[in-house]
Amino acid sequence: MAKRLEGKTILVTGASSGIGKSTAKEFARTSPKNLKIIVTARRLEALNQLAAEIKEEVGDGVKVLPVKLDVSNPAEIKNFVPSLPAEFKEIDVLVNNAGLVKGVAQAPDIDAEDMNLMFNTNVTGLINMTQAILPIFKKRDEGGRGDIINIGSIAGREPYAGGGIYCATKAAVRSFTESLRKELIATRIRVIEIDPGQVETEFSVVRFYGDKSKADAVYKGVEPLTGDDIAEVVVFAAGRRENVVIADTLVYPSHQA
Ligand code: NDP
Repeated sequence: MAKRLEGKTILVTGASSGIGKSTAKEFARTSPKNLKIIVTARRLEALNQLAAEIKEEVGDGVKVLPVKLDVSNPAEIKNFVPSLPAEFKEIDVLVNNAGLVKGVAQAPDIDAEDMNLMFNTNVTGLINMTQAILPIFKKRDEGGRGDIINIGSIAGREPYAGGGIYCATKAAVRSFTESLRKELIATRIRVIEIDPGQVETEFSVVRFYGDKSKADAVYKGVEPLTGDDIAEVVVFAAGRRENVVIADTLVYPSHQA
């Protein structure tokens, strides 16, 4: 697998914490020679820290470029590829991971700002990133080559009460991903969706507003996944032979109903 990833340029959005951070590290560990990773998020300091951690762990064989990028800001996305240094422009793998949840509310109480934030980040942000990177993939070979790996959620398949907006954003990711996969069927651009179940990250803290008893109730009898568990699946999918598409994967912790 390491050989297949060698020489590639990977882009991970939302890499300042959780699954995205683990994913950048897992790519570096799996292919520690001749790999480039662009890590993006709003918190540049955390990205710089991640770059330092990767360098410490695997040395100079992996070049990491931290870039401050808010995926909910279309102007920033438009400017993203043109402002990359030349050696990082030939992106091979896009991991659309940036996402958030804000507020748990029954339908009558949904806050318009929270709703817009979730849709602008989880859906429009993911689509805008895809549009920004697709031209790079499309000009490669005949018809194109590259990997788009979208992080959805079990919430996109099984909505829960009070989470209507977050669940709707992840259902939208799912529909968009499947539609895109069909659009690109004649190319070597692989479109992949990985849907995590419960993963313990900063996301979980936000979701439960730091309320440990609420978290304990949701996690009752379940040992949540770690970011590393999802990262391993992402890197596995990207490391397959070109003819193999791990198109749609649900990753649960044992015992999650
Ligand atoms: P974290 O909160 O730890 O990570 C979310 C990442 O997204 C952070 O790096 C954050 O960086 C980034 N992000 C949020 N908003 C933006 C934005 N506007 N622009 C750029 N980056 C942004 O949570 P997870 O690692 O758990 O979440 C990663 C993905 O996994 C999300 O899409 C989430 O929906 C999904 N998921 C998570 C599950 C879980 O149980 N944890 C379950 C199923 C799916 P910064 O704040 O620096 O911008």
